[in-house]
Parts: sequence; C-alpha cells; structure tokens
Amino acid sequence: MKIVIIGCGIVGSAIAYELSQVKGLDITVIDQQPPAQASTGAALGVLMGVISHKTKGKPWRMRQQSLELYERWIPELEAVSGRKIPFNRQGILSLCTAEEDLKGWEYLAKKRKSQGFQLEIWDSVKFQQICPHVNQNKVIAAVYSPQDRQLDPTTLTLALVDGALKNGVNFKFGVKVLEIPVSSEAGENTLSPLPLSEGVCREISTSEGKITADWFIIAAGLGTSSLTTGLQQKIDQKKQGETEQAGELSEVESNLRPDVLPCPRSDFGVSAQSNADAHGGSLPPAPFPLIDIRPVLGQALHFHVGHALGNPDFQPALTGNDVHIVPCAAGILPTTDYWVGATVEFPDEQGKTLPADSELLSSVKQQAIEFCPQLANATITRTWSGLRPRPEGRAAPVIDHLPGFSNILLATGHYRNGVLLAPASAIAIREMIT
Ligand SMILES: Cc1cc2nc3c(=O)[nH]c(=O)nc-3n(C[C@H](O)[C@H](O)[C@H](O)COP(=O)(O)OP(=O)(O)OC[C@H]3O[C@@H](n4cnc5c(N)ncnc54)[C@H](O)[C@@H]3O)c2cc1C
Repeated sequence: MKIVIIGCGIVGSAIAYELSQVKGLDITVIDQQPPAQASTGAALGVLMGVISHKTKGKPWRMRQQSLELYERWIPELEAVSGRKIPFNRQGILSLCTAEEDLKGWEYLAKKRKSQGFQLEIWDSVKFQQICPHVNQNKVIAAVYSPQDRQLDPTTLTLALVDGALKNGVNFKFGVKVLEIPVSSEAGENTLSPLPLSEGVCREISTSEGKITADWFIIAAGLGTSSLTTGLQQKIDQKKQGETEQAGELSEVESNLRPDVLPCPRSDFGVSAQSNADAHGGSLPPAPFPLIDIRPVLGQALHFHVGHALGNPDFQPALTGNDVHIVPCAAGILPTTDYWVGATVEFPDEQGKTLPADSELLSSVKQQAIEFCPQLANATITRTWSGLRPRPEGRAAPVIDHLPGFSNILLATGHYRNGVLLAPASAIAIREMIT
C-alpha cells in the first residue's frame, strides 16, 4: 500500500516513523523545505501533559499516550540515529503567583492521583529550599509535575527522519505539493456525490510532477490552508456538473417515469451557489480553504548565563504566567543556557500575520527576569520567532478525514502543542489506515 505524507515537521516525521514500523507500507514524505523548519524549528519542546488542565476525553488521552510513547521513542531513536536527543526528565515546575487559584491545582492533583499520575504542591518554605534562585517575593507556591518532559524538537525530528529512513521510508525535500486535483476522469481523483466518504484521491500534483498513492496524509501545518483552498469550490462545481448531468438524464428518464425528479444537494455546508448569493449573486465565489489553519506568531529568546540557575542537579523546565524558562541541552550537557518564550500574537481578521510585537517580547523577557532575577545578568545570544498552526473555528489538533475524500487524512492544526501531541497523532493516523 502506497502512502504519501505531506509535511516533515514534528507531526509528519512522527507519522512517518510510526507507520514505518507497519509491514507492507510503501511510504514517501514530501516537504518543500528540509525537515524541522516552520513551526517545529521554533518550538521550545515543553510537553505539558500531566500539568495541563485537560483531564478527560481525547485531549487527555492524547497527552497521556504521547508522554508514554516518548519514554519508548527517545532511547529507541537515540540508538537508531546515533543522535543524543536533549530530553529533560526532571519534570516541569509551575510557578504560582499571588493571583493563582491554588484550589484549582489541589483539585487537579487529586484527579491526577486517581489517574495514576503525580502532582506535588509545594508551599513557599519547601519551594524556597529547592529553588533558591526563583524570586520568593513573586512566587508564593509551586506545582511540581515530575512525569512531564521537555525535549529539543529539531533534534527529535531529525532522529525521527533517520529512524524512518532506516525502516525504508523515502523522503523528498525541496518538493512542493501544488494541488489536490478533483476530477471525474477514470484513474484520477474522483468524488462521488453520495455518500461523502466515497471520494477517492488517486494522485496529487507536485513541483516534480504527479505522485500517486493509496493514502495521502496532510501534515503540512499552516500549508494545509493553501492545499485545501479552492477545493470546496472544485468539489461543488464537479457536483453541480454531475447534478446537471443527472438532471438531463432524469429528464429523459422522467419522461418514462414521472415520479423521479432531479434533486441537487450540497453536503459541504457552503456551496458555490450560496457563496455567490452572499455576494449578491454577481461575483464568482472567492476560493476559501476547506481546512482553515491560521498563524499565531510566537517569539522567544536564548539566554546565555554561563552556569546553571539554582541547583545544577535539579533543572526542570519552569513555567509561570505562560512564560517558559527551559534549560538547554538537558540530560546531555551541564546547563549554562536557557530558552525563554514565547509570545502569543494573533493574526488579523483575514488570517494575515501582523509584524512581530517587540513590546510583547520585552514583556516575556521581563517576566522571566522577575521569576529568575539572575537572568538580568545573562547575555541574550538570539531571538527568533515562528508561526503556530491554529485551526480556525474548531479545536486543535485536526486529526480526521479531509471532508469529501475517504483516503486523505489530516494531521494538522496542532497550535501550541504539536511537539507534545505528535506521537499520539501518529498513533491515531496508524489506526485510521491499518
Ligand atoms: C515559539 C513557539 C514555541 C512553541 N513551543 C511549543 C512547545 O513548547 N511545546 C509544543 O508541544 N509545541 C510548541 N509549539 C507549537 C509547535 O511548534 C507546533 O504545534 C508544531 O511544530 C506543528 O508541527 P507540524 O509538523 O504540524 O507543522 P510544521 O512544523 O509547521 O511543519 C509543516 C511542514 O509542512 C511543509 N509544507 C507545508 N505546505 C507544504 C506543501 N504544499 N508542500 C510541501 N510541504 C509543505 C512545511 O514546509 C513544513 O516543513 C511552539 C511553536 C512556536 C512558534
């Protein structure tokens, strides 16, 4: 069975690695860039599972699955790739300021205990003993989550690619997927009007020609919108054509059978016709993405301190007021540097990214210094930004069939948790295919 994965960020590479362990699959991953660019290349790799407030259903199940799978994947991938993957096994420490609702944390700690996980609430005395480098005037308590993790997303993605390559996966970098065509020609992509799940994609167009497969997996993050832009209209046009054809046929038939009438329908919510109606019937419908993924910008900073803050033997990722302070190269080198981030900057109403806001970055920096005053003496060696893929009008992530096609799957829109949820997304995709 031939499978094409579009996108080689953390999500596409995780799917490739997971599927590469299934016998009989012929897998190709396509990316317009080298691996681990785009959102993955900017991520801090904080895996907020146990310490997140998701306690039930799919959001919790995916977090739990991912944390479990990472414990297996990291040693496995280090062995297969020969790379050392920075993986912080010292947990996450959430810093609570006076405004924080400690009752909410107590409830969560109880819930986690019943689920077999540990969350410790430290009062100021305990906290002061363990973390003397954190500003005791600002932080009144802390919540320690020893089973949560942080990792380096770029190294992990490269190791997943190495692992998948060793298992026979083909990678095509520098190749852009241009279009998912919709056609009624035999052997090309067909979309039957009823039921929706019967549409089948046979091939996609790329900058290097057409590629055929049995399954296509869109793990293209923000690229998902342009890949699915206009698809709705093409589907509607094709269906309209088919309806007209059916209508002509029905007219002939209804001469014979007066009880049969042609019945046009749209299964996709907004039809080309209704879209034109919205413009007074005069304009052609504007192409819009079937799956609308919008960019949320995040800026981050690299601090070189030259030594560990606090106890060098206890360096969990710190988080407070949505600002993360992340020890670099955890588990591999002694800590001397920290990543700090990230801002959360929404696009305009049309989904266009606005210029990076320097005041927001200053505020993140300032908050980090307030939590760990020694950071004020550190050198900032780099700042960077990236765009998180956020699904518009629906929950993140989108792990589903592409509406209208039975063999195109979506693993996209992971927004702020793509590194955390990549393993669980890969499992979900494997279960949909095998
Ligand atoms: C500053 C910042 C901090 C973050 N911190 C964390 C964190 O601590 N923890 C966490 O879990 N998440 C974090 N995230 C979010 C995380 O980075 C994303 O959720 C995740 O990287 C999404 O992965 P992806 O593989 O879906 O997308 P991407 O990494 O964006 O990869 C998509 C790939 O698809 C390719 N592509 C797109 N269109 C096409 C096309 N037409 N043809 C060929 N290739 C195509 C692109 O080139 C790209 O390589 C952070 C994000 C940012 C910006």
